[in-house]
Amino acid sequence: MSKKILIVEDEKKLVGILKGYLEQAGFAVATASDGQHALAVFRHENPALVLLDLNLPGMDGLDVCRAIRKESAAPVIMVTARVEETDRLIGLELGADDYIVKPFSPREVVARVRAVLRRTEGAPTRAQTHTAGDLLIDLDKHLARLNDRALELTPTEFNLLSVLMQNPGRAFTRLQLLDQALGDTFEGYERTIDAHIKNLRQKIERDPKNPRYILTVFGVGYKFAEDAE
Ligand code: CA
Repeated sequence: MSKKILIVEDEKKLVGILKGYLEQAGFAVATASDGQHALAVFRHENPALVLLDLNLPGMDGLDVCRAIRKESAAPVIMVTARVEETDRLIGLELGADDYIVKPFSPREVVARVRAVLRRTEGAPTRAQTHTAGDLLIDLDKHLARLNDRALELTPTEFNLLSVLMQNPGRAFTRLQLLDQALGDTFEGYERTIDAHIKNLRQKIERDPKNPRYILTVFGVGYKFAEDAE
């Protein structure tokens, strides 16, 4: 089955040209001409890659990229009309996989699409991203987000969160968490986990005293909520 590429672009002529080249290269193509539509098509078609124009009517490409990242690790190539924009885009850490500056040759686009797919294929992209409610953790990119905002976590907090989020519902003892998140098992230091959990809750929970993500399992330790929304 040919891989599907979603082209999000409001210039009809450009869409036609890209579609032609991509289909000739063996890809299936879905298209959307604005941001809202793009998200609907994305959810429906589950494309292998998204070619996303930055300047779209209504919801712009940045917001579309954020929304896609929130629910999927599908590679995104951002298309921008200005070279100066690329630095800004990279600074935003949107999680786009590549950037193309207009004007480009359709051949170049096909080559970049192939390159990004090659790079991301085989990698267990979906499994490396975990979401729960407003929380997202991306193990590949080593980042965590809350409501699309990057969380500033210490390495220990990040490791703790990743261990917990990868195993929703599983109760961990403090010792297990020490071992898995810090690679350290100094007995007697188990309570340091409590301090890390406390800090983590301050950063991710709306009400740290009444957590909805990281739950205390009395007499055991902690677990990540199975049905956090
Ligand atoms: Ca445009």
